Amino acid sequence: MTTQYLWAPPPVNSLPVRGKTDRLPVNRLFFVGRNYHAHAVEMGKPVDKSVERPFYFTKAPSSLTPSGATVAYPPETGNYHYEMELVLAIGTAGFRIALADAHRHIYGYACGLDMTRRDLQLVARDKGRPWDLGKDIEHGSVCAEIVPMPGVVIESGALSLAVNGVTRQSSDIDKLIWNIREIIADLSLFYHLQSGDLIYTGTPEGVGPVLAGDVITGRIDGVGEIELTIAAAE
Ligand code: MN
Repeated sequence: MTTQYLWAPPPVNSLPVRGKTDRLPVNRLFFVGRNYHAHAVEMGKPVDKSVERPFYFTKAPSSLTPSGATVAYPPETGNYHYEMELVLAIGTAGFRIALADAHRHIYGYACGLDMTRRDLQLVARDKGRPWDLGKDIEHGSVCAEIVPMPGVVIESGALSLAVNGVTRQSSDIDKLIWNIREIIADLSLFYHLQSGDLIYTGTPEGVGPVLAGDVITGRIDGVGEIELTIAAAE
């Protein structure tokens, strides 16, 4: 007998996949914090990899928004920031994954934007509160099409972001503090990684605010491009 619900259940969150008609069903959204030295420094929190481990936050999968969307400037912020990131899609489930096996769990990659209420994030950070209001924002997890690259570990590639055509972020994947293998191995110590989990790998320096009317464009060599337009607040 088919399960009956009180109202229509929410749709499956999914992304287009380059070269395929089938879409990738998204499970969870993980984000690595402070994973480029120059960004960590601009946030006033430099990272010493010799004594620190990576840290993560999550956003609701319902915050996923496709590239090309136009979204309203979000409520309760006066400092809405872009963060350009390489997104990794898990294809094969795993728990306590060894560094040498990490590539086996990769389905592909995409360009992503980790949109952030910077004012609220910094208040939360400095008061020791959770980051949810600063990070888990409706329409705040932007992701372009997934590019299938099963088993491929991306180790370098230029990554950049522009607002209204003016470049604001420019770096390279080879500057990740914790690289793709290390992220998969470490995150899998805490979670049973599952097919459709997305990991936003962190943003380089140059983060900054956007305003209604702005168009954000980003690209990663060998992966693709992403675009988001900011509309007036509701
Ligand atoms: Mn980020």
